[in-house]
Amino acid sequence: MNRIEVFESRYPFDTERVRAAAIYCSDGRLGEQFDEFLQSYLNLPRYDRLAIPGGAASLASHFVTFRESEGLLEQLRFLIDVHQLEQIVLIAHEGCAFYSDRLKISPLQLESQQQIDMRKALQRVRAISKQVQIRGFFARFTHNGKVRFEPVQL
Ligand SMILES: [Zn+2]
Repeated sequence: MNRIEVFESRYPFDTERVRAAAIYCSDGRLGEQFDEFLQSYLNLPRYDRLAIPGGAASLASHFVTFRESEGLLEQLRFLIDVHQLEQIVLIAHEGCAFYSDRLKISPLQLESQQQIDMRKALQRVRAISKQVQIRGFFARFTHNGKVRFEPVQL
């Protein structure tokens, strides 16, 4: 029988918010890389996470993601109000299965569709908040198994 024990995290709880959120795909194989990029490179420790399949795809007015879209917008509205967000980072990633399997986007059009979707997502977020700063990035796999983050012009 499994014993259920209490676990205490080695990370202390910091009450301060950085007033930033990231919307990215829930693909757990990229979790460490997303954290490193956001926390270390963009200097956003303790950023709020909105990890959902396809990331910003659900804000891009695809017919099949209507329900996800409404839910994600509600969550964003809450975070912008209550956590007083000042910036939102959108990250799409290469070879996202949400695009190929759920949205049926062909591999050849995948990346350009992801860029279009990030721009649409920006418009949706703008409709909620005029002040919040929005940035977009594309996570690309390198030939030696690393992940590289490139800025996307929104
Ligand atoms: Zn994905």
